[in-house]
Amino acid sequence: MTSPSSCIFCRIATGEIPAKLVLQTDAVVAFLDVAPLADGHVLVIPRQHYARLEQMPPEAVSEVTRLLPDLGRALVQVTGAEGYNILQNNGIVSGQSVDHVHFHLIPRRSGDGLGYRWLAKQYPPGRAEDLQERLRQTLSA
Ligand code: AMP
Ligand code: ZN
Repeated sequence: MTSPSSCIFCRIATGEIPAKLVLQTDAVVAFLDVAPLADGHVLVIPRQHYARLEQMPPEAVSEVTRLLPDLGRALVQVTGAEGYNILQNNGIVSGQSVDHVHFHLIPRRSGDGLGYRWLAKQYPPGRAEDLQERLRQTLSA
């Protein structure tokens, strides 16, 4: 199992550094974010080191994502949140600060001030069709 000694989440997964663990399986660890955006903000990671989602085999993604419904349900029950966001950043440009794939579960309450809506754009004529075609070709290759 890849476990870079410099990766903080690998070190949490091996127990080398402490974290507030809430769920562990053979392949996955979930723990409280040390700097929560809301009470109960949880991170879910594969034990194995992958920097970005697209580097993970689908089975490894599935080991992580299959736990999300239970985690979401538990967060709502325990924190009294009305909902939650799931966020997964890839690349520095997206806001990823820890280079080990992680899913955020962020409990939400009305009036919590966290916001979410980013400014949507409009496609210029032809651009959506061009993207659709190229994506379809790439995905079917
Ligand atoms: P991201 O910006 O998507 O890479 O999120 C990284 C998250 O990891 C941030 O929300 C940090 O607060 C959290 N984090 C960093 N170090 C630790 C740690 N040692 N234990 C728990 N959460 C951490
Ligand atoms: Zn790692």
